[in-house]
Amino acid sequence: MEKWRIPDMTDNNQIKPSSYELTPEELDNIEKLKKSICLHRWTQPCIQIDSGHSRMCCRTFGANSDQNEILQKKSEVFLNSQFDQDRRSEMLKGIRDQDCNQCWRLEDQGITSPRKGLDEFLMYYQYTVGYKKDELLKKLATNDPELHKAHSPFMLEISLGNLCNLSCIYCNEDFSSRWAQEKISVGEVNEKFMRKKVFPTKDIMIEAFWDWMRLEGAHTLKCICFIGGETIITPELFEILNKFYELFKQDDIQTKRQHKIVIQIVTNLNIPEPQFDLFLQQIDKLTEYFRFEILISMESVEEKAEYIRNGLSWKLFDKNIHRIFTFQNGNPNYQLGFIMTYNLLSLTSTRAFLEYVYQLYKKYKHAIYLGKNLLAHPTYLAVQNLDQSYVRYIDEALDFLNSIPEINSFDFNKDITWTGYIHFLEDLKNSLQKNMQFDSEQQKIFSEWTVKNDSRTGKNFKETFPEYTDYLV
Ligand code: SF4
Ligand code: SF4
Repeated sequence: MEKWRIPDMTDNNQIKPSSYELTPEELDNIEKLKKSICLHRWTQPCIQIDSGHSRMCCRTFGANSDQNEILQKKSEVFLNSQFDQDRRSEMLKGIRDQDCNQCWRLEDQGITSPRKGLDEFLMYYQYTVGYKKDELLKKLATNDPELHKAHSPFMLEISLGNLCNLSCIYCNEDFSSRWAQEKISVGEVNEKFMRKKVFPTKDIMIEAFWDWMRLEGAHTLKCICFIGGETIITPELFEILNKFYELFKQDDIQTKRQHKIVIQIVTNLNIPEPQFDLFLQQIDKLTEYFRFEILISMESVEEKAEYIRNGLSWKLFDKNIHRIFTFQNGNPNYQLGFIMTYNLLSLTSTRAFLEYVYQLYKKYKHAIYLGKNLLAHPTYLAVQNLDQSYVRYIDEALDFLNSIPEINSFDFNKDITWTGYIHFLEDLKNSLQKNMQFDSEQQKIFSEWTVKNDSRTGKNFKETFPEYTDYLV
């Protein structure tokens, strides 16, 4: 398996105190910034193709540049808007800006957040710019403006818009057109409001993005991740992939690239058969320059999955799962994986879901990514609202994971691993064990929500999730 993430550094990069000695004050600065620095602020640009919204790291809200800044900085604005440089400067001063609240909240609860800290930052800068570690520490400790600029990111995220055939319980109209339609039909949002979400600077921002792709991105990126909405049913997916294909096949780009670029496609796999056939045919044509990672969004099974992901047909999903594993059939141009959005309702079927995935591994003999994502919003669906009586569901998932004989052979990528999932569940268990009682405010909101959600979807919460009866008020 090709690794595209930051390589480990060698002893050549150890600190040399004689050349760059840090003062006590600078050492203190380094200690402070350990709590706030995050490499994603430098290396994970995101562009929302339908609205023109651009930001660093998909977990932040970001802030779009105005017309003057885009026209003045051109392609440079894509990575280095004033907003992004200011946030990076704050991170180097030890300030935890509210744009990263999702991570701070997790860390304050004792749960490992997706933040990539000082060690990863040091590796990235040494690898991309060639600084020695001691030189870099000096620049960090003195908040050198040179470090406020990002370059050579490894990963780009492209959001295709909100076209989606599901209305999952934790999603909303910004990401799902089905949610938008449901809310418009009951007057909770109006179409005019939805249209306003397209930025007036969209066209010039998209132009700046494509300029950046031609000048830098196509040469340095290792991975491009497409998210939706639902990617596979969104026509823009293939428009953009074909545009990338034309770009990546150019001689000057091919001669510089050592590896095929990885294209990640995040999908709910609730795709009708003709559309799914077309998707498989289309991606197969593009493997000359691309390697695909299909990342399937799922965290539960059967009727519980259908409750959490409203509109899902488990039967169709399961059929597509087997089709894509059969299609992959040992071809190294395809990697398959699951991205679980761990939430209050998926907790009790975690083991059943992991067993389902493991059965796929046993049947198809193909390593499977297992990505973790802990739900933060809406807060009443966050698993951290439960108390220690629910820890037993984490224990049964951990018992299962620890019983898998081949578990270490799945660890081909340190960000998406099965043993990493064990650490994640252990963190969560430690956090829940401290909760002597339910978060009563969130419990009340949740209970009211189940009634509203049943009426919205025609489903029955109590029948689907009898194990939460004690949690309802
Ligand atoms: S701290 Fe969290 S939200 Fe902020 S850039 Fe890093 S991963 Fe993203
Ligand atoms: S599949 Fe994704 S985009 Fe669609 S409703 Fe679910 S979470 Fe939202």
